[in-house]
Amino acid sequence: MLIRNFMLTLPGLIDPHVHLRDPGQTHKEDFYTGTAAALAGGYTTIIDMPNNKIPIATFARLNEKIAIAKKKIVCDVGFYFGSVGDNLEEFKKAKNKVIGIKLYLNETTGNLKMTDLNLLEKIFTAWSSTKIISSQSMPLHSGILSTKKSKPLKKPLKSKLPILVHAEEKRVEDVISVVRKIKIHTHFCHVSTAYDLKQIIKAKEDNLPISCGVTPHHLFLTEKDVETLGPFGKMKPPLATKKDQEFLWKNLKYIDVIESDHAPHTVEEKTHKKDNLTISQHNPVANVNERLNYLSLEKSQTAPDKTIDKTPFGVPGLETTLPLLLTAVSEKRLKIEDIIRLCYKNPSKIFGIKADPQTKIEIDIHQSYIINHKSLFTKCGWSPFDGWRVKGKVKSVFVRGTKVFDNGRILVKPGFGIILQPNRQDSDRDRI
Ligand SMILES: [Zn+2]
Repeated sequence: MLIRNFMLTLPGLIDPHVHLRDPGQTHKEDFYTGTAAALAGGYTTIIDMPNNKIPIATFARLNEKIAIAKKKIVCDVGFYFGSVGDNLEEFKKAKNKVIGIKLYLNETTGNLKMTDLNLLEKIFTAWSSTKIISSQSMPLHSGILSTKKSKPLKKPLKSKLPILVHAEEKRVEDVISVVRKIKIHTHFCHVSTAYDLKQIIKAKEDNLPISCGVTPHHLFLTEKDVETLGPFGKMKPPLATKKDQEFLWKNLKYIDVIESDHAPHTVEEKTHKKDNLTISQHNPVANVNERLNYLSLEKSQTAPDKTIDKTPFGVPGLETTLPLLLTAVSEKRLKIEDIIRLCYKNPSKIFGIKADPQTKIEIDIHQSYIINHKSLFTKCGWSPFDGWRVKGKVKSVFVRGTKVFDNGRILVKPGFGIILQPNRQDSDRDRI
């Protein structure tokens, strides 16, 4: 950490939980707009979730996704493999190209039910018994990772890439019971309640290989905000109570990662107003202000519960997370060291992301500004934090020594970013 002339220099941040929607739902976001949003938000590395329209649950789908991403990304991107328990035979191949596996515990496929603990154990065993072959032997990008000198390793790397699950009350207990038997690193995503975090704290105290993340929306919003946000305040898990929020802040030392869970949907999808609004086919972000105004005009005429029920879950977060955290620093609720721990050090250990001293961000810690949906890079063009005054603005971003972002402008072409390869060693876990 370096502060010179009010400019704070930090390592490029890592967001291990984003949904870039590409391929399949590129009207919401794509690899270019999503990674541009990442850079604008101070993130140089992000890890994309597998729940695309056609889920990334086969090696073939994974390869297709990687090929699409390579051409569009402007920051570095890693991927998770998805599973509901019916694709165990794909794990071996997929493990060479992903950063971890994401399990969808509440999904049911045919006769397979993730509520069945035996199935969960089977998945854990299958994932932990497959090893990655060698990160050097499989260059995925024409960039720095494909050095000719590197020879394929003869022995498989002893690496256990993490399993990710949602923190969802009863399922937290279930998963912890499986981790007690099969000790593979398990990451609980977006912990939102005191109940869930208490169980995780207990498991951590029992020395289980467990980590967890929280989202900025659960740190900065509560269920009360749904009244004003309407459908824009609907996400999974839902915004919790003030008490839950306070518990998260009080127990930040047990939280390993802040993850944005960037999950864009269009304004039309959130509001079901498609038929009544002027939408530019070519520029879905155009007229967003008009649409948001329309929404507030309409709010009184809509039955809120009904509207909220039909609304897709999720909010964007890549561009607002760091400004919110820096604002908390300026209010002395957080330290800069906490941001480094939660948004860089721990995610890099958990997900095996190599440090690069030339990958960094510069922040004007004194610049105060109002979050405005019109200046966001995310294709969805809105934010639950629209109109919030924040303090601390990302001015420039460097990736491997190249300036990629400067004062609101992306300076590199699509395809600049590289695809991350699995690199996590077991010993990393012990240092968290
Ligand atoms: Zn998510």
